[in-house]
Amino acid sequence: MRCRAVQERLVAWRDGELAPGEAVRVEEHVAGCVDCRVLDEHLLAATPEPFLDIPPISAEAEARLARMLDETTVDAPALMWQPEVDWRRLAPHALWAAAVLLCLGWGLTKHYEAQALQAQLDAAPAPAETVLGEGDFRPASWAPSETQAEPGE
Ligand SMILES: [Zn+2]
Repeated sequence: MRCRAVQERLVAWRDGELAPGEAVRVEEHVAGCVDCRVLDEHLLAATPEPFLDIPPISAEAEARLARMLDETTVDAPALMWQPEVDWRRLAPHALWAAAVLLCLGWGLTKHYEAQALQAQLDAAPAPAETVLGEGDFRPASWAPSETQAEPGE
């Protein structure tokens, strides 16, 4: 760890806010680096001691406090997490979802209708092929190869 990185972390290290591995690296660097150790000592000298002067409590007050704590019942809320639903914000999304579902439903019904019709068509007997016999043909009224006349003459 470089001096600059260590110096940026000195206060956090002294406050016990660094990750364990990071704290070890800072500690090792400070132990071996004069500049960082001097800065750390100056910071320690400038930092006031935390105010942790808790006034002593009498035995009577402690007993009274314990009694009050025993008598106190805490009503936990029935449901810890209640989702807040903003229906006005949700409405357009719900409308779009309904429209998409309607379209999908319509498409599916049409798909199944078409499938049913195709099944009926497949099940019906194929119509007999109509092939004209030789005598069923009539000669064309105008045969350009046989006459020089123009149509309509
Ligand atoms: Zn250093």
